[in-house]
Amino acid sequence: MRRAVIAGNWKMFKTRGEAHSTVRELAALLGPLDECEVVVCPPFTALDAVRNAIQETASKIQCGAQNVHWEAQGAFTGEVSVSMLLDCGCRYVILGHSERREYFSETDVMINKKLRQVLSSPLTPILCIGETLRQREQGLVLQVVASQLEGGLAGLTPSEVSRIILAYEPVWAIGTGRTATPEIAEEVHQLIRNWLKEKISSQVASAARILYGGSVKPENIDDLMAQPDIDGALVGGASLDPKAFARIVNFRKA
Ligand code: PEP
Repeated sequence: MRRAVIAGNWKMFKTRGEAHSTVRELAALLGPLDECEVVVCPPFTALDAVRNAIQETASKIQCGAQNVHWEAQGAFTGEVSVSMLLDCGCRYVILGHSERREYFSETDVMINKKLRQVLSSPLTPILCIGETLRQREQGLVLQVVASQLEGGLAGLTPSEVSRIILAYEPVWAIGTGRTATPEIAEEVHQLIRNWLKEKISSQVASAARILYGGSVKPENIDDLMAQPDIDGALVGGASLDPKAFARIVNFRKA
């Protein structure tokens, strides 16, 4: 049985004060969280404020970051390291988000280096993959997703891969209000699981948690979560609003 994960990616939104009050409000709206892992990924500057709010409310909400550098430390102006994230109370880190691939030229090679650094620590990586609209229209979904997996996971052992949470995020659905239908999402989640089965192992494939991301909202979460291979969601816009995010976390099982 795969435990569901609902992660909120706040992107470049919320000051420390806003982050603190959002988490306090969210914690008050959520139940005991026995069946679902809930992760909030604020900007670096608000990690500490999120950790404080989690501690004050004794909530099981976890804190995650949106990126990390692949070196342990050094002259890398503007970057943060794995140990800095751990020091701020982070337990998760998003890697390879399409916005980082597109606007900051992150490649699969860079993402692979980040994954190796993260996997040498107690952090859990959330690895994002997904095709653009053009690639989908050209019938390249499987090729794109397979090549992102091949590049991102290169050289990792099955036990390392088993620690990664995957997030299928079709680029055309991110921040556009255009969600993949549950059937489209399920089809790609199955492709990803099959790829893991073929290239890594059946055990890793059946245990892998694969989240869907792309305009997830209170209105579509129940149908998405009803799909057998969708194990949770990576939520952007709707995670900024505690009421909407709480409804997503409290998705109704089919
Ligand atoms: C995201 O940022 O990962 C995302 C899926 O954004 P949104 O939910 O706003 O589409």
